[in-house]
Amino acid sequence: MEEREQRETPSVEGRADLHLHTTFSDGALTPHELVKRAHDAGLKSIAITDHDHVGALEEAAETGKSFGVEVISGLELSVTFGDRDVHILAYFFDPTDKTLLEYLDVFRRERLRRAEKIVEKLNKINIPITLDAVLEQAGEGSVGRPHIANALLEEGLTGSYHEAFIKYIGQNGPAYEKKFQVSPEEAIRLISSCGGLSFLAHPGKYTSEAELLDLIKKGLDGIEVVHPSHNESRQEYYRGVVNQYFLLESGGSDFHGGKKNDDYAFGAFVVPLHVVEAMRSRLFG
Ligand code: AMP
Ligand code: FE
Ligand code: FE
Ligand code: ZN
Repeated sequence: MEEREQRETPSVEGRADLHLHTTFSDGALTPHELVKRAHDAGLKSIAITDHDHVGALEEAAETGKSFGVEVISGLELSVTFGDRDVHILAYFFDPTDKTLLEYLDVFRRERLRRAEKIVEKLNKINIPITLDAVLEQAGEGSVGRPHIANALLEEGLTGSYHEAFIKYIGQNGPAYEKKFQVSPEEAIRLISSCGGLSFLAHPGKYTSEAELLDLIKKGLDGIEVVHPSHNESRQEYYRGVVNQYFLLESGGSDFHGGKKNDDYAFGAFVVPLHVVEAMRSRLFG
C-alpha cells in the first residue's frame, strides 16, 4: 500500500474581536459573561472597550486566563472633532495609570451631569422619566444615552430603543445634550502617555478623506477597518488608507448585547490574530 504523504495541516489562524462593551459602560454582559461567550464563539483574543471605563479589565483578564482567551486592555473615548462626535479606541495601555484614571473620572462625572440635564429636558416636554430610573439601567457603568433609551423603554415611554433616539435624545432631538469631550490630540496624547495605541473607531461613511488625513497627522496609530457599519468596499477603502500611511488596522463587532439586539454581530466581525501581533510589534518591537 502506498505510504500516505505526511502533510502538515495548515493551521487555521485564530480570530480576535477588538471592540466589545460590558456592564461597565452600555453593554448588557458582565466581563465574566462576555469572556465566556467569546470563548464559546471560538475567539482567541479580545479587547473590551468600554466607554470611559477600564473597570471590566481585571475581571475579564482573570476569566480570560481560565478560558484561554487573551484579554487586551481596551477603552473607547469620545472626542470633539470640528462639530462632530468621533470615537477613539485605545489598546495595550496601562489601565492602572494615574493620569488616565483621573481623566476617566472626570469624563464619567461629566456624563452624570449630562444625564441629569437630559432628564430635565425630557421632563420639560412632559416625559416623566426620573434620574433614578436611568441610573438603575447604568448600574456600575458609565452612564450614557443608551441607558436613557433603556429607561424610557422600560417605563413604556417609547415604542423602541431606536425610537428614543429619533424622537428625543438623538443629535436632533428635543432632549439632546452635548457631552463634555476633549480634542482628538488630547485623547491621543493621553493614550500614548500610558503606553497605548490610538485607533479611529468606526469612521463609517461620514469621515471625509481630508478629515482622515487630519486625524492621522494628529497621531492616530490606526483605523478600525472591520465594523458592522462598514460594508466590504468600506473595509477595502480603509485597509488601503492603513497601508498607504503605514498605520495599523483593527476591527470588531462593537457588541453591546441586551436591548440593542446586536447578537448577530458577535463572532461575525473579527480580525485575524496577526492584526493583534502587528500592534504588539509596533509597541514592543
Ligand atoms: P453617548 O456616549 O451617551 O452619547 O451614547 C452614544 C451611544 O448611543 C452610541 O455609542 C450608540 O451606541 C448609541 N446611539 C447614538 N445614536 C443612536 C441612534 N440614533 N440610534 C441608536 N443608538 C444610538
Ligand atoms: Fe456604546
Ligand atoms: Fe463607538
Ligand atoms: Zn463601541
